[in-house]
Amino acid sequence: MKTAEIMANLAAKHPGENEYLQAVQEVLESIEEVYNQHPEFEKAKIVERMVEPDRIFTFRVTWVDDKGEVQTNLGYRIQFNSAIGPYKGGLRFHKAVVPSMLKFLGFEQTFKNALTTLPMGGAKGGSDFDPVGKSNDEIMRFCQAFMTELWQCIGPDQDIPAGDVGVGGREIGFLYGMYKKLAREYNTGVLTGKGATWGGSILRPEATGFGALYFTQHLLQTAGKDIVGKKVALSGFGNVAWGAATKAKELGAKVVAISGPDGVCEIPDGITDEMIAYMLDMRASNRNKVEDMATKFPEKAKFTAGKKAWSIPCDIALPCAFQNELSEDDAKELQANGCWCCCEVSNMGCQPGAIHYFQNNGILFAPGKAVNAGGVATSGLEMTQNASHISWSAKEVDDKLHFIMQSIHEQCVKYGTQPDGHIDYVKGANIAGFMKVATAMLEQGII
Ligand code: GLU
Repeated sequence: MKTAEIMANLAAKHPGENEYLQAVQEVLESIEEVYNQHPEFEKAKIVERMVEPDRIFTFRVTWVDDKGEVQTNLGYRIQFNSAIGPYKGGLRFHKAVVPSMLKFLGFEQTFKNALTTLPMGGAKGGSDFDPVGKSNDEIMRFCQAFMTELWQCIGPDQDIPAGDVGVGGREIGFLYGMYKKLAREYNTGVLTGKGATWGGSILRPEATGFGALYFTQHLLQTAGKDIVGKKVALSGFGNVAWGAATKAKELGAKVVAISGPDGVCEIPDGITDEMIAYMLDMRASNRNKVEDMATKFPEKAKFTAGKKAWSIPCDIALPCAFQNELSEDDAKELQANGCWCCCEVSNMGCQPGAIHYFQNNGILFAPGKAVNAGGVATSGLEMTQNASHISWSAKEVDDKLHFIMQSIHEQCVKYGTQPDGHIDYVKGANIAGFMKVATAMLEQGII
């Protein structure tokens, strides 16, 4: 494989799309050796085809705010790869959303979905709509306007969106309501992350965070370590961070820091159930301020403006917020403060320099596409329940999620164990996902 040539070509076709190019570069570096052992992949130009999205929809979304002013945003859906199943992936509403971000996320999603063991292709979508400070009515009007365009691109056997940053259960509700009205089609399987009484999987809101902690547990066990009593620092206070904090505490770890765009809250005695529940209020408030935690619990949490969770001493770091949120300098600070494990829960949460630093300095590291795959895996389980018109109990879903996370960990070990015995989880996840998608593409011919 001519990685440099492929990257140069991609950069020329997608100028300045750095996040997208970063995501592709990481995968190509990991798979090069395996790819070169399969001349049939080279002949069918698998990599050249795999790095380009199948198709991209771009649309204008116009809505009216509470002051009666007309607002216009851009909406997107990127259907990346359908080799192993219908397009599947979340919608992100964030002011920084641009095609590059969604292409990187769609590309990552393709590999992540392949790891889940379920038949799902990769997609991503979203809008540059900024939910911060918006009222409930504004969120509803925006979601409805967004769906008036999106509905024609999606369907339960075609493309199944879900949540991501800025899109949770409330937004999925508004989106689904509008989809039904427009499509006159009442198949609940068109979106996942729905409410539990109208087709949602009981554990979907918790699933990404729970799955991340199950993965972390397997990783620690394989390294001969235990999570009980370990200090955990995490970023974010959305659904993912909330699920991660809940499960970390349940497994006996101590969450000593959570951070947001405004700074970090240090929680020396560990997060309490009350504080975890308050994370949900913080997300629903649309204020995007972690300082609210210290205001609400002044005895337990100390807020420092402008600092990240990575400045607080911990054993395990869990980035749960946004891509590239953990830099090489952060990695160095973490290690200096005693951190020995980082499980990336956000998509591409660590910058390449941070990953190399972790890997070169004996810090256990696992990438987002393996660690956070429990979210989309549970979406896949939700699709199964919707297609068969049944509902599983929380325990049934949790058992299946646990089994899937264990299997993802096994795939990473299978493809990532190096000749000296250490496990390279980045290589493991990338090669496992790649082999599945590449083989399916090969078997389906040149399309
Ligand atoms: N946005 C989540 C992810 O990055 C979930 C996607 C889904 O459930 O379809 O995997």
